[in-house]
Amino acid sequence: MTYVITQSCCKDASCVAVCPVDCIGPAGAPGESTDSEMLYIDPAACIDCGACVQECPVGAIYHEDEVPLGQQRFLDINARYFQLHPLAAGPPAPRRDHAPVRPGSLRVAIVGAGPAGCYTAGELTRIGGVQVAMFERLPTPYGLLRAGVAPDHQHTKAIADLFDTALSHPQLQCHFNVEVGRDLTHHELLAHHHAVIYATGASLSRDLGLPGEHLPGSHTAAEFVGWYNGHPDHADAEFALSGQRAVIIGNGNVALDIARIMLTESDELARTDIAQHAVDALSTSAIREVVILARRGLRDAAFSVGEFLALGDLDGVDVIIEGADLRDDAGDDDAETALKLDIAREFAQRTPTSTHKRIVFRFLTTPVEVIGDGRVAGLHVRTPDGHATVIEASLLLRSIGYRSTPIPGVPFDPASDRVPHDNGRVHDRDGHPAPGIYVTGWVKRGPRGVIGTNRACAEQTVAQLWTDFDNGLLTQDIGEPTALADLLAERGVHPLAWQDWCAIDTAERQRGLDRFRPRDKFVRIADALAAAKK
Ligand code: NAP
Repeated sequence: MTYVITQSCCKDASCVAVCPVDCIGPAGAPGESTDSEMLYIDPAACIDCGACVQECPVGAIYHEDEVPLGQQRFLDINARYFQLHPLAAGPPAPRRDHAPVRPGSLRVAIVGAGPAGCYTAGELTRIGGVQVAMFERLPTPYGLLRAGVAPDHQHTKAIADLFDTALSHPQLQCHFNVEVGRDLTHHELLAHHHAVIYATGASLSRDLGLPGEHLPGSHTAAEFVGWYNGHPDHADAEFALSGQRAVIIGNGNVALDIARIMLTESDELARTDIAQHAVDALSTSAIREVVILARRGLRDAAFSVGEFLALGDLDGVDVIIEGADLRDDAGDDDAETALKLDIAREFAQRTPTSTHKRIVFRFLTTPVEVIGDGRVAGLHVRTPDGHATVIEASLLLRSIGYRSTPIPGVPFDPASDRVPHDNGRVHDRDGHPAPGIYVTGWVKRGPRGVIGTNRACAEQTVAQLWTDFDNGLLTQDIGEPTALADLLAERGVHPLAWQDWCAIDTAERQRGLDRFRPRDKFVRIADALAAAKK
């Protein structure tokens, strides 16, 4: 008998640490990420103890007899992974915690309350005596967990429970609704903390540089995702949903999320925490086909196996594969690529139903120009053999990855769109280490990886901070926290504490109850602030 990891694996490896026989992999050493899309359990080694199930923060692990319908394929997926990638001998390196510190000797600010900031908070508050102040520009925490993870992936959102343990910890103070760079400068923050850790993510979309890219009807994935997830920055966005076809450029997991949300029945969406304005708009959408465009082939597809597989179970939707070479190749020695090929072959063999909506994966197709007279009418594309054609569409979404915004006063490398660092410790403009300033998450390593990837990233950054602390590099005199609070008050900035967010959370859940939904989010900052004051 064995346990099985399924689609919603967050890859934060909570399960790895508790497995008595080290049968979950691939596992990196503390602070080290691995390249696989998810974790797997080796059925040949699993002793059926179930310790991993208790520890998984997103409920992704099941006993083999209890795997839900639609996830059964993961029995085979877990087993096949180890046929091609046998488990490394020996347990992962044990982690060693720092000893508690004298209260007041280490005060750390974390900027950004998304997954990267939350895992960092968890790492720091494990150690007695450390004082943590978390700053977040929105009145609400969780970053992309709230505003990025698709609303039909509620399992993944359960990881918020893990983050709450850190955010409500007595050694941590939340200062939500405070924007560093606007309400407070980097230097002011640094003057009141021994260390500042930036976990500000990557909220901007990259540009393609195509002619016509900015025509009305052409949007970034960030706008669409932010809109359906009720992010206040995108609450007023509008999308042309009156045409029959939408095209998404890029085939990462974000593109798949968008395609799914566009074609899922609105009754089903209405049972999630999707923004109400998005359900209303999508319920009258005329879109019947979403084309997902990839400039490279299936073997280089950016989406993950689980997300690809799940599209095959979407009610009333056919998945069409175009332009992919589905033949076996001697070079296919990677389990995840082999699985993508298998799944694509299965999709290609299905007979489409004329009344169904369609997701069309079009591989080896490069976008050349967005065309339209005053608004998007289609996309001019080309294949490697020089064949050029136009895909007609009224809505175009560019889902080609995200980029970080520079933080005023903090070094930034515009070529990589990241903050330059070494193991999380920032480098100054001359390339010299700048002890006291750290980064973690997407602003550190670029927009790659799932929620749990941020755990190893946070461990690495915090380990570097401890090295600096032990080397006596974080001993500067700093101002009192009350002085910072006074400065904010003088500027008319009113930070929200953990309890204020709890009031918002309760109000959102209450609104949701009335509509049989997990929550109904406030999409306006003013409404969230009003709920916090009730
Ligand atoms: P991504 O995985 O990096 O995918 C970006 C896509 O854009 C790739 O297909 C890439 O193609 C394409 N692209 C880039 N530049 C292009 C260009 N100039 N012309 C045409 N295509 C171009 O990014 P993402 O989808 O935004 O996802 C970001 C991260 O979040 C990923 O690690 C993803 O796994 C994660 N995520 C996970 C989930 C989930 O687990 N459910 C959901 C959402 C996001 P090339 O490969 O050819 O460059």
